[in-house]
Amino acid sequence: MAEIIQTDGTPKEGKLVAPGYKILVAEDEESNFRYIEKLLKKAGFELLRANNGLEAVEYVEFDGNINLILMDIKMPVMNGVEATREIKKLKPEIPIIATTAFAIPGDREVFLKAGCDDYIPKPIRAGELIEMILKHIS
Ligand SMILES: [Mg+2]
Repeated sequence: MAEIIQTDGTPKEGKLVAPGYKILVAEDEESNFRYIEKLLKKAGFELLRANNGLEAVEYVEFDGNINLILMDIKMPVMNGVEATREIKKLKPEIPIIATTAFAIPGDREVFLKAGCDDYIPKPIRAGELIEMILKHIS
C-alpha cells in the first residue's frame, strides 16, 4: 500500500486509497479534529466524529458500517481507554488506533491491553496515519 500514498498522506495520481471506508474519529478538540478530517478526506475516507468516548461507543452501537476507529485517549465523559474496552465487547472486529499527545513510557502497552490494535503519537503525521489505517483495513 505504501507505494500508492505520498508522504503528506495524499494518494498518488489523485486516486482515492479506500473509497467508501468509514472511519470514526473520537476526538474532543476541535482543531485536532479539523486537522485529522482534512487529511483523511483527502485520502478519500468517509468520516464520523465522536466528541468523547461515550459518543464513540454509541456510534458503534447504532452504525453497522464503521471500518476503523481513531481514538483519542484524553477525552471528557469517557476516556479512550474505557471506550475501547466497551467497543471491543460490542464489535471486537473493528480496528482501533489509539492516539495521544501525552504518552508516557508504558502507555502504549496500556492502550494495547485495553484492546487497541495500534498506537500513533500526536502530532500525527499524515503519511504514517494513512499507512497504518490501510494496514488494518486491508
Ligand atoms: Mg483529547
